[in-house]
Amino acid sequence: MSKAVQIPVAGSMEASGEARIITRNGSLGDAPGRWQDSLKDMFTSYRELAAFLDLPIAAFDDLDAVTRQFPLRATRAFVSRIRRGDPDDPLLRQIMPDAKELQTSAATTTDPLAEKAFTTQAGVVRKYRHRALFILTGACAIHCRYCFRRHFPYEQHRQSRQLWDDTVAELAIDPELQEIILSGGDPLMLDDHALASLFSSLQQIPGLQRIRLHTRMPSVLPGRITSPLIELLRSCRQKVIVVNHINHAHEIDESVVQANRQLREVCTLLNQTVLLKGVNDSARAQIELSHALFDAGILPYYLHLPDAVDAAGHFMMAASTASELYAEMLTALPGYLVPRLVYEDPGYLSKVPLQPALESLTRKTL
Ligand SMILES: *Cc1c(COP(=O)(O)O)cnc(C)c1O
Ligand code: SF4
Repeated sequence: MSKAVQIPVAGSMEASGEARIITRNGSLGDAPGRWQDSLKDMFTSYRELAAFLDLPIAAFDDLDAVTRQFPLRATRAFVSRIRRGDPDDPLLRQIMPDAKELQTSAATTTDPLAEKAFTTQAGVVRKYRHRALFILTGACAIHCRYCFRRHFPYEQHRQSRQLWDDTVAELAIDPELQEIILSGGDPLMLDDHALASLFSSLQQIPGLQRIRLHTRMPSVLPGRITSPLIELLRSCRQKVIVVNHINHAHEIDESVVQANRQLREVCTLLNQTVLLKGVNDSARAQIELSHALFDAGILPYYLHLPDAVDAAGHFMMAASTASELYAEMLTALPGYLVPRLVYEDPGYLSKVPLQPALESLTRKTL
């Protein structure tokens, strides 16, 4: 299993296969580029994945129609944490295509967050005050079946370097802007060279205080967290925040702890989780996750209800179920290990907090 994978990239700021990395003194060094090699050695076939995990292939009957819409993609690092022979494994469920994805529903759309309406040609999404979100690339090291950007028209948001600089120059006029959020796809699919030039371009924004990266790489491809990357983040003038995207305690093994330990030297570490039916929709799973995150030096930030995106409706649960689960988390965890339970509604000026089920919090005896 070493089929070369074509990584779809959005323009010139891409994850290049070239192993050229900027060293601390700014010169271009020859790096081994091992994380790029791992990207070429991913699982992309559900048949191969099923065989590797000792799963009966019959249970995954003819999913080609599903993978044509959204291909399977998973790193060996992620797959190594999946229990063999268990079709209900919470990590497997995040990546294995499912015939349910072909069901249509009136409750879901291709663009649940109305991102089209908020997105400029250069792939900048501006919904909230003081923050601008950059969609840097469509590429990811893993394809999450519930992804809310699975239908995002990345190709309409190609970034040329020129467009990029123009965008930053435009943003620089806004005196309110304090934070740039790098998203995608996965911003750490860009190589260090591209990230370095992006960071230097962002220095044009006068009021910029923080740069935030939303990424699954520290957990799905810990090898991406290299010393040159750490040095790059260290050299950044603004505070850097890395928001991990880990959904289940089983995703955190020693390599993930190590990667985050390195990151922690130079940035603040947070995590966001998506609450997914059949994956992590129990208070026990969430409580375990909070503990595991803390042990890895990461604080829980958001627990998102899944967005109502086409093909991922089977991951959604009733808001009341989520509220009950959340009340249980509140009673079992110290406040700093409780993420904020939120959902996104394009009509609001921030993510919308969901209340815990108060009857579950009520003291029964006095
Ligand atoms: C989620 C999101 C942000 C960040 O919101 P925070 O509450 O600061 O984490 C910013 N812009 C867009 C478009 C978002 O979807
Ligand atoms: S890593 Fe993020 S953007 Fe990429 S498929 Fe998963 S949820 Fe979607």
